[in-house]
Amino acid sequence: MSAGLGTPPSDAAERHAQGMLERALTVAFWQALQREPMHVMAALEAAARTVGTLYRQVAAAHGPDGHCACGWEPDPETDLIVLEAMLAAALAHPPRRELADMVPVGRA
Ligand SMILES: [Zn+2]
Repeated sequence: MSAGLGTPPSDAAERHAQGMLERALTVAFWQALQREPMHVMAALEAAARTVGTLYRQVAAAHGPDGHCACGWEPDPETDLIVLEAMLAAALAHPPRRELADMVPVGRA
């Protein structure tokens, strides 16, 4: 996966990029629920499954046959622990005030 993964960004640039991605994913999530209401856990399960799929796709681009030269080496066991920790931390403490303050659109 080469798009956007070339030169390593600074910490500040990475935090900014993460914030932009979080906002885009959050907006897409609520817009999808507005269009197609569903049970909240079904929606969250789909979101979690999507993160797993994204990991698999990104890892595939970094495996032996991968085409990205950024140097990252996927380590599914360790990476999953990191992702689980992010999930748990977000449940306890919203990462950004702006996301925490976002008014959900429609109902889940
Ligand atoms: Zn890469």
